[in-house]
Amino acid sequence: MIKMKQANDIEQSSSKLKAKLLHNQKKIRYLTICLVALIISLLIVWLSPRIILKGSDKVELNYQEKYKEKGAYAKYLFTKDKKVKINGKVNSNKLGTYKIIYNYKLGILNLKKERVVEVVDKEKPKITLTGGKEVSVCPGQEYKELGYEVSDNYDKDLKDKVKIKEDKKQMKITYTVEDKAHNKTVAVRKYQFKDDVIPDIKLKGSSEENIYLGQTYVDDGYEAIDVCDGDITNKVQIKGSVDTSKLGEYELIYSVTDVAGNTAEVSRKVRVQQRPTTSGNGIIYLTFDDGPSNSITPQLLDILKEENVKATFFVINHADNLNYLIKRAYDEGHTIGLHSYTHDYSRVYQSGDAYFNDLQQISNKVKNIIGVESKIIRFPGGGSNTISRKYSPGIMSYLTKEVVNRGYHYFDWNVGSGDAGEVNSASEVYQSVIQGLSHTKNNVVLMHDFENNYKTLTALRDIIKYARNNGYQFAKIDMLTPMVRHRVNN
Ligand code: ZN
Repeated sequence: MIKMKQANDIEQSSSKLKAKLLHNQKKIRYLTICLVALIISLLIVWLSPRIILKGSDKVELNYQEKYKEKGAYAKYLFTKDKKVKINGKVNSNKLGTYKIIYNYKLGILNLKKERVVEVVDKEKPKITLTGGKEVSVCPGQEYKELGYEVSDNYDKDLKDKVKIKEDKKQMKITYTVEDKAHNKTVAVRKYQFKDDVIPDIKLKGSSEENIYLGQTYVDDGYEAIDVCDGDITNKVQIKGSVDTSKLGEYELIYSVTDVAGNTAEVSRKVRVQQRPTTSGNGIIYLTFDDGPSNSITPQLLDILKEENVKATFFVINHADNLNYLIKRAYDEGHTIGLHSYTHDYSRVYQSGDAYFNDLQQISNKVKNIIGVESKIIRFPGGGSNTISRKYSPGIMSYLTKEVVNRGYHYFDWNVGSGDAGEVNSASEVYQSVIQGLSHTKNNVVLMHDFENNYKTLTALRDIIKYARNNGYQFAKIDMLTPMVRHRVNN
């Protein structure tokens, strides 16, 4: 009985074990299937055809920044680096969203991928404060807006959109501006109450004056304006004096100090000169234009030296190796006048600016050579020239006034020599000159020392002899010489 029960028990437990074993086998099979399926699907994904983009599929590009395509390729099975078709364009000059499409055909399969490119404005506007970030305000006055400029890579006319806020306690101004893309810029200007600007003191009349011995010196006056104090002309003090009973050069120093203690100073030179004994009529001013020249000027200077005659040279620009002749003429007591740098009518008379540019060039050259600025000039072609009409109608009417406004004295002539073309021989030059001379005027004689003008060189000694025999005296032109001017024809 007991044995049977035991046998029965064993049978029962072994069938349980069998069932469990069966169950576990099912589980393992199931897991294996899952694993294989996973591996297969991974393999399919890995081997399946697709397009790979180099770089990101979303790109942000700044306005006007050049778009650079990074490229893409197709890939399937064990092949890769297959060329894809790329379509689409990015216009970085226009804000917006752009799409680049990538295509690859594999049999009936048409693969497609896209990249989104966004052109945006990322740059902040720029604020430039007129007058700077730190400024001074006159004590007792209010800050007055000094202005500003705004620039932006994309938005135009942001200037009106600037918001200005003044903080009087902290003494600062805040400028805020935002462009359409919401890029915001803030600029700050600080101010302090201080007068740190020296007064502006201006002389009326010339800064260099010539007067005769015994003449009374009358100051032309002055004016002093201060940014904070206004007109302070009555505070100007003058140091120095002019003794018109003694020949010499005198310096007057004008100085003025504002309330804050800033001092400005200017000076004026006054030259007391001998009154020329030759004053009156019958003076001859020999003038030589268009030089210096290698062939004529040295011998010309020799003759003038031997005859003890002072003359005037209206020079133009030549090669620098002739500069020594300008220096020599000046050192030997002649006047160096300015004629023109280029002597090219079409350039000189193109406009007022063109004329003064040309004049400034020859002025600089002469100043470099002789060390002083010349204010004595002669217009190319003279003040009466008509050729300038061709380039700028009316320009001589303007220039003849404007040069005087700028402190120049200009000289035409009233005795011709014809040596620039009309006559061909020394005797004709001689005749032209002596026929033009007169005791009832200041004789300004036009001659030239341009290259190879031997006829004038040859005639010169005879002209001087004739003049001396006939009671004339020679003088050079200076700032006291009465201007001899032609009638203006343009
Ligand atoms: Zn000339």
